[in-house]
Amino acid sequence: MKEETMFTLIKGGYLNGPEKMGIKDILIAGKMIAKVADRIELPNDFDIKVISAFGKIVTPGLIDLHVHLLGGGGEGGPRTRTPEITLSKITRAGVTTVVGCLGTDDVSRRPETLLAKAMQLEEEGISTYIYCGSYQFPLPTITGSVRKDIALIPKVIGVGEIAISDHRSSQPSFEELCRVAAEARVGGMIGGKAGLVHLHMGSGQRMLDPIIRIIKETEIPIGQFLPTHLSRTPSLLEQAIQFAKLGGNIDFTVRGDDLHWPLTTKQAIRKALDEGVSIDQITLSSDSNGSMPVFDEKGKLIKLAVGDIQNLYLDWKGLVGGGFPLEDVLKMVTSNPAKRAGIDRCKGSIDEGKDADLLILGNDLKIESVMAKGQMMIQRGEVAVKGTFEE
Ligand code: ZN
Repeated sequence: MKEETMFTLIKGGYLNGPEKMGIKDILIAGKMIAKVADRIELPNDFDIKVISAFGKIVTPGLIDLHVHLLGGGGEGGPRTRTPEITLSKITRAGVTTVVGCLGTDDVSRRPETLLAKAMQLEEEGISTYIYCGSYQFPLPTITGSVRKDIALIPKVIGVGEIAISDHRSSQPSFEELCRVAAEARVGGMIGGKAGLVHLHMGSGQRMLDPIIRIIKETEIPIGQFLPTHLSRTPSLLEQAIQFAKLGGNIDFTVRGDDLHWPLTTKQAIRKALDEGVSIDQITLSSDSNGSMPVFDEKGKLIKLAVGDIQNLYLDWKGLVGGGFPLEDVLKMVTSNPAKRAGIDRCKGSIDEGKDADLLILGNDLKIESVMAKGQMMIQRGEVAVKGTFEE
């Protein structure tokens, strides 16, 4: 790791943390935000790095709740195994915290490997968490139990992405889904975690029916669940809005050029908000490094692309350009995902005592600097810290 001075002062930026905070200075001590104030003056002999942010916007680093750190999928055979993500791919997108997941392939990719990859990225400078489990039942775990993984392994904040309503799902029974939600809930309580149950929604007809049934027939609260890919079909979006109206949280996968879903992120969010869903219930995630297979009506694979974390940045920037207030769009990629993951004590907003995960944005919301845990990862648009084996 590079030697940096212990203190950094970011001066004169307009803070969207994610709420509008006005023009303020931020004092960073080590990995944390020590002070936020209108004007912070320090003695001349104080060893400090000063960064001018006059005329710029300062925001929290982005949090991505759905990243296939090891790659995911591979639905077209070994040749289509998607690649692992690298540090600078993540930081170039302004992302400073990721939650990693497995995916369709839990045969050749295991939760132990996912944990090790998350540990690598953490050492390289960003913050990482993971889900135990995968698409399939029996859910792969490290300790042999979802409950124990969440309770005892610091990086495990939940279970997922569990595939339902999809031809790649292991078609879990209602009882199996109830059981895993209960395991995640209790594991979360014991470990002081979110115990989130992250659900991959396919394009099948059953959609969220089993989850809505769990809410109605068991004591498990709706907030335990976070379904994603909800703009995949218009009818799934409709049902997701009903789910949100019952008090549930919803996650939309951002749309790069390769994801041929009928609704754009903007259309999906607009519809949800128009129907009374609160912005606080919505998160955006990238599905980065997952496979984006396109199947024909007979279930035959006809095209395969790879999710790109850059789309998280491009999509939220596009939303701001498309008329949504900056603070609302930022919430969906900062404070809201921090709450879903149960890491809002240290992540997701510009507040004293939180981790110094910050973006400095220039004209047209261009990412100029990315700070993760007090360390400059991107500086003036250039990668300052590379992954261990990055060229
Ligand atoms: Zn998925």
